[in-house]
Amino acid sequence: MRTIQHFVDGTDYPGTSGNTQPVLNPSLGTPQAEVALANKVDVDHAIANAAKAQKKWAQQNPQKRIRVLMAWIQLIHQHMDELARTLSLEHGKIFEDAKGDIQRGVDVLEFALGAPHQLKGEYSSGVGPGIDTYSLRQPLGVVAGITPFNFPAMIPLWKAGPAIAAGNAFILKPSERDPSVPVRLAELFIEAGGPEGILNVVHGDKEAVDALLDSETIQAIGFVGSTPIAQYIYERCAASGKRSQCFGGAKNHAIVLPDADLEATADTLVGAAFGSAGERCMALSVVVPVGKETAEKLREALIRKIPQLHVGHCLDPRSDYGALVTADAKERVERLITEGVNDGADLVIDGRTLDMSDATFEGESLSQGFYTGPSFFDHVTTDMSIYTEEIFGPVLSMVRAETLEEAIKLPSEHRYGNGVAIFTRDGGAARDFITNVDVGMVGINVPIPVPIAYYTFGGWKASGFGDLNQHGPDSFRFYTKTKTVTARWPENESAGPQFTMPVMD
Ligand code: NAD
Repeated sequence: MRTIQHFVDGTDYPGTSGNTQPVLNPSLGTPQAEVALANKVDVDHAIANAAKAQKKWAQQNPQKRIRVLMAWIQLIHQHMDELARTLSLEHGKIFEDAKGDIQRGVDVLEFALGAPHQLKGEYSSGVGPGIDTYSLRQPLGVVAGITPFNFPAMIPLWKAGPAIAAGNAFILKPSERDPSVPVRLAELFIEAGGPEGILNVVHGDKEAVDALLDSETIQAIGFVGSTPIAQYIYERCAASGKRSQCFGGAKNHAIVLPDADLEATADTLVGAAFGSAGERCMALSVVVPVGKETAEKLREALIRKIPQLHVGHCLDPRSDYGALVTADAKERVERLITEGVNDGADLVIDGRTLDMSDATFEGESLSQGFYTGPSFFDHVTTDMSIYTEEIFGPVLSMVRAETLEEAIKLPSEHRYGNGVAIFTRDGGAARDFITNVDVGMVGINVPIPVPIAYYTFGGWKASGFGDLNQHGPDSFRFYTKTKTVTARWPENESAGPQFTMPVMD
C-alpha cells in the first residue's frame, strides 16, 4: 500500500516515528493508502530546514517571490483534474466540488500576488523638526498552518499563499484524513521554482500539533478545525506568547421572510444544506421561516425537492453529494438524528434509511461507503442537541419563528457565529438584519456567503478565536509584524542629553 510521506526541504521525508494511519476511500469504505505520522523529532527537522531557508527568501524582493506564486498558480491549473480526482477520492466530495475547493484556494494565491502592495508601509514626513516616521511590514520567520479535512486544498492555500508571499517559511500540518493534495501542492510549489524548505508538509495528530505549538522557532499558528481544538490551540499559543488565529465550528442559519421567492429559496437551501454532504463550515444547517404560511410552503417545497437528490460515488457525475469522510462521521451524524427524534423533533425525511446495498460505480460496490441520505427535521427547538451541536452532515433543521425579531435572535444567541443568510425582497428588513445579527459573515439572498479572496473570512463567537480574519488584507497582517521607524539626520547640532519625554509643543 502507498505511504504518503511528509514533504520537507523540497522532497519526500519518511520521518522517524514509524507511526502511520490508514487513509480511506470514503466512497468505497476501504483503505487506499497510509500516511506517516510525525513525532517531535520529525516536526523539529522540518522547522530547522524551514528556518535555514527563510532568511534568503525574505531577502528576495517581493516581486520575485510572487513570480514563483504566478508559476505555481499556472501549474495548479494544469494539474486541476488530477488534484480534484485525488481530493474527491480521499474526502468523498464530488469531483466538480473538489475543483471548487482548489479554485477557492487559488483565488487567495491570486490575491497574494499583490504582496508588494500589501507589504507597503506608511510614511509621514516632518512629524517633528527634521524628523520622519515610517513603518515596515516584515515577515515573522517560520510560521505554521493546521488545517481540517473538509477543504484539503482551499484552506492550506489560504494560509500558505499569503504567508509565503510575505517572506515567511511555512509548515503545513494538514488533516491526516486527506493528506495527498497538500503534498502534491507542495511538490508543485517546488516545480514552480519555489526554494526548498519554504513550503513543508508534516502529517500527524496531536503529537505533531503539540510539537508545532511548543516550538520556539514557530512564530504564528493559523488553525482551522473544530471548536474544541481551536480553543485548545488558541489558549496554548496565548500561554506561550505565540501569535495565533483559530477558526472553529459553525451552525449557519437561513432566515426566510414571507416575501421571498420560496421555490427558488428552497432550491438554494437544498444545495447549501446538502452540498458536500453538509461537511462545510458554511453549510446551511438551520432554516428559519418567518410566519406559519412561509413555514408550510417551504416545508412542502423541501419535501418535494430533497428526495430528488442523488447520493453516490464522488466521481459519478450523477451524484449531488457523496460519502461522509469516515465511518465515525456517519455514525455521529446518525446518532444526532436519533437524538433529534428522541427529543421530539419532527423527522420529515430520514436519511438513515438510504440503502446502498446494491449501489455500484464502475463495477465496484458502494455498500461499505460512508453514505447517509439527506435528512430534514421540522419543529426543532433551541434546546435540542440537533440545534445546539454542529452536526457536520446532510441534515437540515427547521426552527419556526413568528417575527423577524424572533428569527434574528436565533443565530445571534447561538454559540457559533460563522455564517448566516436572509432571503427577502425587503431592503429595509435586510438592512436591519445586517446591522443587528451577531454573526461574522452575512448573506443577503446568498446562502453560503464565503467572501471573495480580497475580503476577509472569519466567524465570530465560538467560530473564531483571535483578532484577525483569514485571507484578504488580514492574512498579510497576520503573517507579518510592523516595525515603526522614527528618523532624523542631524548635522552638528547636539543639544546635550535630554531627560524628559519628548513631546510636541
Ligand atoms: P478537527 O478539529 O478534528 O481537526 C483539525 C486539525 O486539528 C487537523 O489537522 C487535526 O489533525 C488536528 N487535530 C485534531 N485533533 C487534535 C488534537 N486533539 N490536538 C491537536 N490537534 C488536533 O476538524 P476536522 O474534523 O478536520 O474539520 C471539521 C471542523 O472544521 C468542523 O468543525 C468545521 O466547522 C471546521 N471548519 C471551520 C472552518 C472555519 O473557517 N471556521 C472552515 C472549515 C472547517
